Amino acid sequence: MLIDAALATSPELPFEIRQFKIEDPRQDEVLVKIVASGICHTDIAVKDQKVKLPLPMVLGHEGSGIVESIGKNVSGLAIGDHVVLSGDFCGHCKRCIGKLPSYCDEFVERNLTGKRIDGSSPLSLGDLVTGGRFVGQSSFASYSVVSQHSAIKIDDSYPLHLMGPLGCGLTTGVGTIIHALEVSEHDRIAIFGAGTVGLAAVMGSVLSNCSSIVVIDPINHRRELALELGATHVLDPEEDRVVEGILDITEGGADFSIEASGNPAAVKMSIECLARPGWCAQVGATPAQTFHSLDMDHLGFGRGIKGVVMGDAYAKEFVPYLAELHSQGKLPFEKLVKEYKFDDINLAIADSRNGDVIKPILIM
Ligand SMILES: [Zn+2]
Ligand SMILES: [Zn+2]
Repeated sequence: MLIDAALATSPELPFEIRQFKIEDPRQDEVLVKIVASGICHTDIAVKDQKVKLPLPMVLGHEGSGIVESIGKNVSGLAIGDHVVLSGDFCGHCKRCIGKLPSYCDEFVERNLTGKRIDGSSPLSLGDLVTGGRFVGQSSFASYSVVSQHSAIKIDDSYPLHLMGPLGCGLTTGVGTIIHALEVSEHDRIAIFGAGTVGLAAVMGSVLSNCSSIVVIDPINHRRELALELGATHVLDPEEDRVVEGILDITEGGADFSIEASGNPAAVKMSIECLARPGWCAQVGATPAQTFHSLDMDHLGFGRGIKGVVMGDAYAKEFVPYLAELHSQGKLPFEKLVKEYKFDDINLAIADSRNGDVIKPILIM
């Protein structure tokens, strides 16, 4: 079958929508007609080769769509199901059995190479086999062949075109609060970066009844949106003294912090603002080879840093839970979204890059 997909070839060249050949789904795979796909900063970082994964590749990892055909060994999915796509995992290693698929033994091979675990790809362009399995899906495309593990069924009543970001940005932000940090009522939290992940963490902190929710971001309209979503305080790192500000607001330090900006300068502040004890979750994709020196005395007082992928969540259960919260008005992430036609992918990327738009969604 022929499909349209956006190919990333190099940092210098724009995404180019080309016609690809897509394989039929294998026994444990499904073919999904993509309805929409969010654009995440990781897509842009790979395109720009700040995160060095092999190009050319079809990127995109916040797809939502409808199951069009299924392999004969697929269970729990049927033709016509509405699905959100997420990362692939093996299903049988220690971490998969423990419902932590983001730390699957085969996570890198299944999600970051653009290939299946056997090295093949469902997509080709003439004679050229191209990466078609980015984060299990390569959703900047009209169709995707994915592992059954990557397709998460959601209720038909939800607005499918909005649901894709539940598979990455929302799961990461809310999951980090609920699963990775296990934040509880009256905790004080500092969130660095008011992009999708940071603002999802704000919504998760509101759901957890945190007493102080401090958001740090240099862009005014993002700080305003953070306040609208329930942040109690905002700080501008270009104007305010951030660490002192957080220590004042929280009366001694944050019980938890989340570094979701990817800005190396924010990493240091996200650790220095912690209370005793206090935990910092690192979820922002900092450039490769970013090193930090730490005052071990500071860490010694019950403080720690934790790297978190996909919010330590089990997406098969967490995504339907988030979709239900959204339907109840408790996760109003549509406030972050701007919709674009698939043909306008390069405009959507430019608007995301300069901070004008927080969550672009491509409508296929
Ligand atoms: Zn992402
Ligand atoms: Zn596994």
